[in-house]
Amino acid sequence: MPKLTINGREVEVPAGTNLIEAARALGVEVPHYCYHPGLSIAGQCRLCMVDIEKTPRPTIACNTLAADGMVVLTETERVKETRRSIMEFHLINHPLDCPVCDQAGECWLQIYYMRHGLYDPRMTDEKVHKPKAVPLGPHVILDAERCILCSRCVRFCDEVTGTGELGIFHRGDQSEIGLFPGQELANKYSANVVDICPVGALTERDFRFAVRVWYLDVTKSVCPGCARGCNVEVHVNRRRPHHNEGRRVARLKPRFNADVNKWWICDAGRYGFKAVDDKTRLREPFRREAGTVTDASWDEAIAAVAGALERYAPDEVGVLASPRMANEDLFALRRVLERRGIRRVAFRVPPAVDGDQDEILIRADKNPNARGAELLGLDGDAAALLAAARARQVKCLWIFDHDLLASAWPEALVLGALGAVETLVWVGANANATSERAHWVLPAAAWVEREGTYTNFEGRVQRLRQAVEPLGQALPEWEILGRVLEALGAGARPPRAERWFRELAAATPAFAGLSYQAIGDGGQMVRA
Ligand code: SF4
Ligand code: SF4
Repeated sequence: MPKLTINGREVEVPAGTNLIEAARALGVEVPHYCYHPGLSIAGQCRLCMVDIEKTPRPTIACNTLAADGMVVLTETERVKETRRSIMEFHLINHPLDCPVCDQAGECWLQIYYMRHGLYDPRMTDEKVHKPKAVPLGPHVILDAERCILCSRCVRFCDEVTGTGELGIFHRGDQSEIGLFPGQELANKYSANVVDICPVGALTERDFRFAVRVWYLDVTKSVCPGCARGCNVEVHVNRRRPHHNEGRRVARLKPRFNADVNKWWICDAGRYGFKAVDDKTRLREPFRREAGTVTDASWDEAIAAVAGALERYAPDEVGVLASPRMANEDLFALRRVLERRGIRRVAFRVPPAVDGDQDEILIRADKNPNARGAELLGLDGDAAALLAAARARQVKCLWIFDHDLLASAWPEALVLGALGAVETLVWVGANANATSERAHWVLPAAAWVEREGTYTNFEGRVQRLRQAVEPLGQALPEWEILGRVLEALGAGARPPRAERWFRELAAATPAFAGLSYQAIGDGGQMVRA
């Protein structure tokens, strides 16, 4: 491991570390545009110049590996002057349209100009004009005038997705980013180029002009779109009314986790949050009798569910849990099942179409917590449960989240089961064709409205955190189940998700020793 000195401080880094990362290890920032730790080195922007002892000229830090005994200086007058010149060069043809640019507030041209530029502009000629507001694909739009030709987007499509849609065309000051003929930027990870574009050249079509970024609050969470459990930031506009169709969540951004998703997320996950505020959201508990819907209070709904669980023999109750429920919900459900001795339980419902999967992130299982449901012992035969309902052996069916009418099961078989039971209880965030047949519908908080944990397909337990308030009277499923438990006479329920997790960890060997604190921001593996 080479040991070197940066700005007078010693640091030891793994062999193969470049000077940008070596400096980062000391908390020293070397400004850069084209370098990205997830991509190959381009050495294109020349901004990361540093002075190295016994080297006659400043050297780019991205393409220089740390070596034993190296003495590096990142803030000499010569380095600062070089940076200023390079900043001036990058801004020669860049439009000064920050007030109307959607990247303002998170643009590295703005940030570095303030930190390392601050020169008096000498450019008096007309700037070169290039195409503006060009849609590259379903999610990304290009303003070629703002591009500084760092080539990060090109390298992402070449090296990460391997789809190669983008290139740099023409020469000199006419050079511009564009699509190869006949191509569209429509790969499954396309919007990551917006995240890595250091300027406002690539912006998200979904987010453009929706809200200024300095009004956004950020919450660390986990994508529920598949079993990978990519780490995300939920960006919410609480401080100014958000006029984008009443959406509270403004956007999702990837959050670095070396063990899960590195710097990336897929487009399906990135835009999967729309269900949080769409018109199918359920806001209040209600009952349906002879086709008539009546609003109910939570007390009435909980009493009705607990009453049904007590009224029927344990073998007459079937529970279809969901791999979309968090570990805390599943554990609370297990407590309810144990309390009543209910054994007919399952959680796997076959999807109507097989999910796509790739070698990058996307998993075929589109549920975030199937592994958690397995570890908590809720794996049973869902088809047999449905058959028992059709045979009227199961009289009370309690379904979480699923839309059985959108599954691979034949519609007639599902309708036969749903129509045969005397009491059908449905819990979930968004109404669907199954909830429309339920006698009792209980609204659950969406994943951004609650605390909890998911266990991804590899067994990593990760935290989701509350970013917005639950809509209407919706409650987290652990709270709904806790109230049912109380109504069943089990005593006071844990008041917070963290307390449920503590009980879960104490009772389930795979989770032993885990706590919210230990899970932290990066997650923790369950015991093998
Ligand atoms: S569009 Fe953005 S990421 Fe692509 S080369 Fe230009 S500045 Fe770099
Ligand atoms: S790969 Fe899965 S977890 Fe990751 S962003 Fe996509 S849908 Fe979400």
